[in-house]
Amino acid sequence: MIYTDTRDSSVKVDFKTAVVNGMNAKTGGLYIPTSFPLLDPTFVNRVPEHSFRETAFEMAKPFVDGEIPDNELEFIIQDAYPFNAQIVPIDPVTYVLELFHGPTCAFKDFGARFMARVMSYFNRGENDNLHILVATSGDTGSAVGSAFHNVPGIDVTILYPDGKISPLQEKQLSTFTGNVRALKVNGTFDDCQKLVKTAFTDEELRKKFRLSSANSINISRLLPQSFYYMYAANVVRNRIPHDSKIEDASIIVSVPSGNFGNLTSGLIALKMGAPIKGFVAATNANHTIPDWIATGEYKARPSVATLSNAMDVGAPSNYERIAAMYSLDEVRNLFASYWTDDEGTLEAIRQCNEKTGYIIDPHGAVAWKAWNDIRLGGMEKLMSGNVETDTAKPGLTANIPAWAETVTSKKAVGIILETAHPAKFGATVVKAVGREPSMPDRLEKVLSLPDRATPMEKDYDSFKEWLVSNL
Ligand SMILES: *Cc1c(COP(=O)(O)O)cnc(C)c1O
Repeated sequence: MIYTDTRDSSVKVDFKTAVVNGMNAKTGGLYIPTSFPLLDPTFVNRVPEHSFRETAFEMAKPFVDGEIPDNELEFIIQDAYPFNAQIVPIDPVTYVLELFHGPTCAFKDFGARFMARVMSYFNRGENDNLHILVATSGDTGSAVGSAFHNVPGIDVTILYPDGKISPLQEKQLSTFTGNVRALKVNGTFDDCQKLVKTAFTDEELRKKFRLSSANSINISRLLPQSFYYMYAANVVRNRIPHDSKIEDASIIVSVPSGNFGNLTSGLIALKMGAPIKGFVAATNANHTIPDWIATGEYKARPSVATLSNAMDVGAPSNYERIAAMYSLDEVRNLFASYWTDDEGTLEAIRQCNEKTGYIIDPHGAVAWKAWNDIRLGGMEKLMSGNVETDTAKPGLTANIPAWAETVTSKKAVGIILETAHPAKFGATVVKAVGREPSMPDRLEKVLSLPDRATPMEKDYDSFKEWLVSNL
């Protein structure tokens, strides 16, 4: 597969270059495949559907063609995914796609674990280890640390702001042994990021060590997220005749979004033939993308803190990829778009539990609320011309997607992406429903491990000295 750049379509690189570079330093653009080959319809349409890992293999193949042989790709997928994406029906027309069955209990495991193994593959035959430096304000660090833990040929150093992440998050990224180390920096997240950036531009350091990043914009984190969209859409299509018995149902996927990597992966699955009719772009008070869809103007802004904090992004980097794949009119046809505030999020956790018995985390709750409002009158109101045009008010944006009528005629079913286990956000869940969600064993276990983080000052000299004597 040839990859190009969102800012310069004359750029043409192979998969390895796109993965190793992360982004195109010359243009500041993001890598994107030049084509999205359709999966064979007999594969997609099979009843019963293919397993998650079989689906992952078929989808990954064209993107690594000629660079990773089939047997190696198969090993990468088996090793990356000892867990599954699970589909849970919570009412006859609503399915939750649980993406938290990986080691860190959040969907980022799907992207990070594939990326780690691909990087390790591309590093084979090198004499020196690859050193990954990652600054984190919380969740990314644990997904990346866990994904690379014990992966051959790679060392990871995680930097986080001391005292500024949740106790559970801190446990999840400071308790690794072996090739993954954590530094608790006496400063802010911005200080951590600055230390990493300075290291990357330090020629002297780069001569000594092979440094790399594990940024969320890396194409090898985005592609694997498309696997579970294809898998889930096939599972749901095969279940509809037994559950709601709707003929020719439209499948609508509601995605709780921050940086919009997850939703971009959904677009990749759609282009490759997943039986999906449309998407709901659901955000918290950081509603840059809903506003773009509503007004046609993209305006990045500073992020604001919310209960769904992994979605607190004011300048979503994958906007560039979405705009490279679809025109604004196409986006308005394909997406409904919706945002809610913290009050709405708490209300959604409570209502979802009351109506269905399901306990949803504050991120998934945003997506559930969007779908629930859309199907229970929101879309009908939109189509009758009764629209809210003030983008500062929560709710649906005024565009009417091409699939709107399938919702009002009750021929649509929804898939809600549940991106984290509710136990990771226990305090918010308790506030909404009055009880603690049950704690998965792997989270419980990490809480009792000893903290191994090394304290670090925020000046570059201290950091460099540590790197030189520890890498
Ligand atoms: C990262 C994250 C999101 C947002 O995903 P994007 O790809 O950035 O849109 C949503 N929920 C959780 C739990 C996350 O960790």
